[in-house]
Amino acid sequence: MVEEQIVARGVTDEKTLSAMNKVERHNFVPESLREDAYKDYPLPIGKEQTISQPYMVAIMTEELVLESADRVLEVGTGSGYQTAILAEIVKEVYSVERVESLANDSMAKLKEMGYNNILVKTGNGSKGWKEYSPFDKILVTAGTNHIPDSLFEQLKEGGKIVIPVGDKYTQELTVVTKVNGKMQERKLFECVFVPLIEDEG
Ligand code: SAM
Repeated sequence: MVEEQIVARGVTDEKTLSAMNKVERHNFVPESLREDAYKDYPLPIGKEQTISQPYMVAIMTEELVLESADRVLEVGTGSGYQTAILAEIVKEVYSVERVESLANDSMAKLKEMGYNNILVKTGNGSKGWKEYSPFDKILVTAGTNHIPDSLFEQLKEGGKIVIPVGDKYTQELTVVTKVNGKMQERKLFECVFVPLIEDEG
């Protein structure tokens, strides 16, 4: 998976590649889909949600330019796979998931696997996680038409947000850097994510 799907597409960051080699993706997909766990596409994880394509996890991780001392906020825990990749590289990961059962299952699984640098909570992650802010990096794993103000506020100066921005059907993977308190945006390529749901109704 790492050689054929990730290195072959140009990901070179050693920390990302080593984490992707180490974390076993089959532990994060439903039993019935285990034989597809290392294939080149997203898979359903229930509750109408998905575990992202391996390459997408890798490129988003690489674009965060992670340091071992970083504290990272993830919005959209899903299966917990991307959370584990981040936790292999950085000091602390805070992850928010709106679907309670996914948040609970992922937290339990990650704990059982021995990760003690991850906290997961159920909630609307577009509001960030103020209590633990500011964050060095923020990763949003669902598509949105704007960059939520709370996330930018909870980002440290010089920090980065990687986020898919666009409409309901397609987005552009976007890297936002906070420079002198202002947003600098860089667009990477088109992508398709499940929506970031901000209205809790
Ligand atoms: N990175 C995940 C993985 O590796 O399995 C994939 C995440 S999936 C593409 C996007 C997730 O974002 C879904 O689990 C969805 O429930 C969650 N989500 C959508 N809107 C959200 C919100 N406002 N706050 C937190 N999580 C949200």
